[in-house]
Amino acid sequence: MSKTAANELQDLQYFGEFGGVNPSISDSSTYTFLSAKTMFDTFEGNTEGCYLYTRHSSPSNLYLGEALAALEGTEAANVYASGMGAISATIMQICDSGDHIVSSRTIYGGTYAFLKNFVKKFNIHTDFVSITDLATVEQAISPKTKMIYCESVSNPLLEVANIEALAKIAKKYNIPLVVDNTFAPLTLKPAALGADIVIHSLTKFINGTSDCVAGAVCGSSEFCLSLKDVNHGAGMLFGSTLDSLRAASILKNMRTLHIRMQKHSQNALFLAQKFEADGFRIAYPGLVSHPGYETMTAQMKPNYGYGGLMTMDVGSLENANAFMEFLQKEKLGYLAVSLGFYKTLFSAPGSSTSSEIPLEEQHKMGLSNGLIRFSIGLDNDIERTYEMMKSCLKQLKIVPKTTSV
Ligand SMILES: *Cc1c(COP(=O)(O)O)cnc(C)c1O
Repeated sequence: MSKTAANELQDLQYFGEFGGVNPSISDSSTYTFLSAKTMFDTFEGNTEGCYLYTRHSSPSNLYLGEALAALEGTEAANVYASGMGAISATIMQICDSGDHIVSSRTIYGGTYAFLKNFVKKFNIHTDFVSITDLATVEQAISPKTKMIYCESVSNPLLEVANIEALAKIAKKYNIPLVVDNTFAPLTLKPAALGADIVIHSLTKFINGTSDCVAGAVCGSSEFCLSLKDVNHGAGMLFGSTLDSLRAASILKNMRTLHIRMQKHSQNALFLAQKFEADGFRIAYPGLVSHPGYETMTAQMKPNYGYGGLMTMDVGSLENANAFMEFLQKEKLGYLAVSLGFYKTLFSAPGSSTSSEIPLEEQHKMGLSNGLIRFSIGLDNDIERTYEMMKSCLKQLKIVPKTTSV
């Protein structure tokens, strides 16, 4: 029997302190030791199964980490208080002053700001490249380069990274490939394709209830332990620790991830196909017209579809704003950033989640003003949703552009 991530998750089984079917939540910041010697050894990182202090680790955070390692097929995983907490810790753990990073230019706005502006304080520099142009990626690598950074499916244009090819380049130069897989849990398994470190914003699909922010780093036991090192660990020393109560609730939500991903994908594919047939410019990796369709199809696990995100170009920011406000009024979803919720969420990335990216860069990336990013919800009757959305467009007199720019 072949192993799948969903089966790996299903096989995790818990017996709480009182035999409960959920693990008991560790509601303590600090832990007692029966002997002073054990406390010393724990500080030195030598005693497995001993807890020291919750910023280092807690049983609840370890349970969630175990589930994430099973999801991504990595040896271990650490959890953090946000996706950015996971991303910043990873980058600062790997890079020293004077180092260089090669990053995809189509990445989450916060990550872009961190790599473009913040790491300069530490004399770390980033070159942003088109991640689908493998020759350019390789050319950007210098002896100072310490990692290749990308998103498996990128925000907001849903560009698909060829993880296998990028991993080959990374191996050739003996540097890690770090992949943010927030948009494609279960669908893509970057570690199986050769990525060394896989990052998630748990805030999105994995938690799926839009009630907290959280993040994860999945990788080798060695790397995950190094992040927790009391003397040198960026996770430990920056202190972006996830609260145990939240870790426990995210773990519970993760158990329906496979069902939710299937529904998000099914609904998004339906709308993408319908609106494309109506003549709108749609970006969705499940459409044959999408530049990443073939890469996605070759890399993906078959059961979870092409994901819940799609973009639609309605021609102008005015149109985009009017359409989004109308959709919200019709109770078809929320005008809000973020993704992976049971209701559809929509925003215009140019003026919101990607606003950290300068206008000129936005144009180069193909990020137009009239672009709306949709995180398609778990709608029970997606045909009805489509009819209602079409009716909103009609009432607003928004028609597909006939000329392409
Ligand atoms: C949201 C997001 C992040 C940041 O995660 P937070 O939990 O908001 O800190 C990083 N990468 C991607 C792809 C995201 O969508």
